[in-house]
Amino acid sequence: MAVDTVRLLQTLSDAFGVTGFEDEVREALRALVEPYADEIRTDVLGNLLVTRRGGSGFTVMLDAHLDEIGLIINHVDEKGFLHFATLGGWDTRILPAEAVTVRTREGGKVRGVIGSLPPHILKSEERDKPIPVDSLFIDVGASSAEHAAGLGIRVGDPVVPGHPFEVVREGWLLGKAFDDRAGCAVLVKVLEELAGTTPEATLVMNFAVSEETGLRGARTAAFQIDPQVALAVEATVAADLPGVAPPRQPTGVGKGAAITIADAPSIVSQRMVRALETLAQRHEIRHQLKVPFFGGGTDAGAIQTSRAGVLAGIVSIPVRYIHSPVSLMWLDDFDQVVRLVTAFAREAKTLFTP
Ligand SMILES: [Zn+2]
Repeated sequence: MAVDTVRLLQTLSDAFGVTGFEDEVREALRALVEPYADEIRTDVLGNLLVTRRGGSGFTVMLDAHLDEIGLIINHVDEKGFLHFATLGGWDTRILPAEAVTVRTREGGKVRGVIGSLPPHILKSEERDKPIPVDSLFIDVGASSAEHAAGLGIRVGDPVVPGHPFEVVREGWLLGKAFDDRAGCAVLVKVLEELAGTTPEATLVMNFAVSEETGLRGARTAAFQIDPQVALAVEATVAADLPGVAPPRQPTGVGKGAAITIADAPSIVSQRMVRALETLAQRHEIRHQLKVPFFGGGTDAGAIQTSRAGVLAGIVSIPVRYIHSPVSLMWLDDFDQVVRLVTAFAREAKTLFTP
């Protein structure tokens, strides 16, 4: 039974999975991949490894990360306000006034808001200045530290700012965690596409933990999988926006699957870039080359340098406003990435066997 794509994206974007605390989204994915997998296991760090056995010993690794950027509580004050540090790459200027979800150790969810001062009481010199993150606080309506503890909140609890999934209009989607739950959804769709066939190569999908804090899960997963070739499937920066010059626009919405040439931790092998371009042309898949950009990286950076080196590429969905509480994606771009990654999964052995 085909998985409805919009519902799949909703389930995954709304799931809680702050970097280092990915258990909830991992269990959601386990249920989604179960009908298609030959083997599923979770490793020590929490990566979910899903195998589809193929007709040869050639192994293809497909990676998408489970984690999303978030916050972590580092102090509960006597008035019941929660203070926090950031987990992953936030622009902290955009945090004030955002609704948040705190997850307690028992798995409870407490909603709240990052407090901000109304303009009425701001001094003129305060209006134009960003608020330092150590002056920000979360208000869950607790009246004391004891009251917060009674709600189950403790130091070390993870927090996610973000908006629930929403269809703005047909094909245009808003969500808090398309980076990289959209990539996770691509892998689920690829499994579905391959159902009932025996792929040439064995596919091992890694739903990786802790990408946002140093590509940690992909590093240890690549060592275990020991693949011949790999692909990181991501949601990347679409910055086709007013006032942004073309060299600062890594990708654009509507231009299809983005193929990376170079980012901070990886210069992708030209052989891989050409192979992905050839596949896209052959299957008439709309695609774009991602403008080389060194302000971020993907799990491919860690996979590429595993063991004696792995031929690793990156294919991404262009998404506007990633690393914020709400991002915007066009379903058609997502579909192009599903088609390209499916073609790669089917044909990688032929493409990369000399
Ligand atoms: Zn990402």
